[in-house]
Amino acid sequence: MGRRVHPVAEEDDMADPKWGNCKSCKYFSSKSANPGDTELAKCVQPELSAYELSVSGSSGCNAYEARVAAGEAYEAPSPAVH
Ligand code: SF4
Repeated sequence: MGRRVHPVAEEDDMADPKWGNCKSCKYFSSKSANPGDTELAKCVQPELSAYELSVSGSSGCNAYEARVAAGEAYEAPSPAVH
């Protein structure tokens, strides 16, 4: 059985270490590089996408996964050339 996911009001579940805001979640389908609190977008989290949720940037849940900004992608160091 999969993980139980429950979108809730921020004040109810902020103690959950996996909880985060939609605006910084990789499943928030915003086209903006830096979504705001009032922006609305679909949640495309695999377990939630069937519900076709439209969430605001200030919403959140315990299925949160941090998005990686374009400039923050991990890049392995180049091998040294001698
Ligand atoms: S997975 Fe949760 S935190 Fe992420 S966009 Fe969907 S509702 Fe928001």
